[in-house]
Amino acid sequence: RRQPSRKGSMADVPEDLFSEIKRLEDMFMVDTTKLKAITDHFVSELAKGLTKEGGSIPMNATWCMSFPTGYETGTFLALDMGGTNLRVCEINLPEEQGEFDIIQSKYRMPEELKTGTADELWGYVADCLQQFIEYHHEGEKLDKLPLGFTFSYPATQEHIDHGVLQRWTKGFDIEGVEGHDVVPQFEAALEERGVPIKLTALINDTTGTLIASHYTDDEMMIGCIFGTGCNAAYMEHAGEVGKLAHLNLDPKQEIAINCEWGAFDNEHKILPRTQYDVIIDKDSPRPGQQSFEKMIAGLYLGEIFRLILVDLYAQPHVRIFENQDISSLQKPYSLDASFLSDIENDPYENLQETHDNFVQQLGIKTTKPELELIRRMAELIGTRAARLSACGVAAICKKKGYKTAHVGADGSVFNKYPHFKARGAQALKEILDWEKDRDGKRLGRGRDPVEILPAEDGSGVGAALIAALTIKRVQDGLT
Ligand code: BGC
Ligand code: MG
Repeated sequence: RRQPSRKGSMADVPEDLFSEIKRLEDMFMVDTTKLKAITDHFVSELAKGLTKEGGSIPMNATWCMSFPTGYETGTFLALDMGGTNLRVCEINLPEEQGEFDIIQSKYRMPEELKTGTADELWGYVADCLQQFIEYHHEGEKLDKLPLGFTFSYPATQEHIDHGVLQRWTKGFDIEGVEGHDVVPQFEAALEERGVPIKLTALINDTTGTLIASHYTDDEMMIGCIFGTGCNAAYMEHAGEVGKLAHLNLDPKQEIAINCEWGAFDNEHKILPRTQYDVIIDKDSPRPGQQSFEKMIAGLYLGEIFRLILVDLYAQPHVRIFENQDISSLQKPYSLDASFLSDIENDPYENLQETHDNFVQQLGIKTTKPELELIRRMAELIGTRAARLSACGVAAICKKKGYKTAHVGADGSVFNKYPHFKARGAQALKEILDWEKDRDGKRLGRGRDPVEILPAEDGSGVGAALIAALTIKRVQDGLT
C-alpha cells in the first residue's frame, strides 16, 4: 500500500491538505494484524449467533435444507424486493442438469415507498406481480403459481413460507412490519387483487445466491451480497445450531444459515470505526444496528466520503473549496457509491472527469491538490470496505474449516466498484496466510485457495430453486 510521501504526485499538495491525507490514512487503513484480529472475533461471533442465547449476528435458520442436485425441474415465479428495484421473474428449470430459462420484468421501487406505510408497500408489490402475470399469461386460466420471494432483510423463520421481520435495514423505515410476519401482509394484498400466486418460500438474497451458485458450480460454499447492503449465507450442520436443539434434527442435516453479518460488532468491540462512521450510525433510521454494514455497503460509501469533505471544509486550518458555496454537498446521501467509483476509475494523470463531476453535480470547482485528496479519500474508503468484507468471508471459511472454496458474490459494489475484487482477494490472502508454494502447486497457477467469484442470479434462479426444493420436500413428506 502506498505510504504518504512528499514525492511524486503528492509533491504539490500543500501542508494542510497533506496532513489531512495522512490523518485519513491513519483512520482508514486496516493492516494485516487488525484484519486477523477482526476475523478471529468474527469466528467467535458466528458461533455465538448459533447458540440459544444468541449474539449480535442473528445467524438466521432459513429452512433451506440442502444444495440443489442440478436436476430440479418446473416453472416458478420469483420476486426480488431489493433496495432500488423490484424484479419479477418466471424461471423454467428443464430436465438438463444445471440449466434454466428466465424471463423477467423490472419495476422501479419508488423512493417514497421506503418510508411509507405497509399497505402502500404490499399494494405496490402485488400490483407489479399482477402486471407481470397479465402481460405474460394474458387470458390463461392459471392454477396458483409457486413463488419464491426474495425478501432481503433479517427475518426470523419457523417455516420457510413465513418470516417475522426483525428490523428494517438499508434505510427502509416502514411502520407496522417490524416484529410481524410479512407473509400474511403480502398475501392479503395478493388476495385483494385476485393474483393467482402461492408463496412457497420466503428467502434472503444471500441464501438464493448460495443455492443458485452451487447449482452451476458445486465448489460454491458461501453466498455473499456486496451491494446496497452486505451479508452472507452458508450451509451449516444442524448439530452446530444450538438454538435449534429442541427440534431434535439429525445433527448431520444441512441447513442454510443467513448470517446477517451486517450486525457484526454492533457492540463496538473491534471494528476501527471513525468519527464519520459514528455520524452515519447516529443519523440513520436505526442507530446501533448494522455496524459492519455501515462501513462497507454501497448505501453508505458515498455518504462517508461526503461527511469527510464537509468536515474538512468546516475546519479553519484546512483550505479546501475556498470561497465556494458547498450547500449542495451539505445534503445527506446526495452522493452515491457510483460517484466514488467514477473517481476511482478516472485516469490518475489529470482527474479531469472528477473535476467535471464536482462542477456539474455539486457546483464546486476543484484544484489539483484538492483532486489528489479526493482521489485518495475514495481509495481509502473503497479499500477499507473491500478489506473488512474479506474478514467475514475468511471467518466463515475458518469456522467451517474450508481450506479451499468458491464464494459466489453479487451486488453493485462487487460487480461495479473498481478494484473491489482485487482488494478483497489481497486481504483474504493476508488473513488466511496461504502457503504460496504448496497451495499454488495444488491449485494450479494463478488460483487462490478461496476465491470470491461472480455469483449466479440468486434472487431469481436461486429463489426458484429453493421453491423447487421446498415442494420436493413436501412431496417427500419431509416437512
Ligand atoms: C440485509 C440482508 C441482506 C443484505 C444484502 C442487509 O441490509 O439485512 O438481509 O442480505 O442487506 O441485500
Ligand atoms: Mg438485490
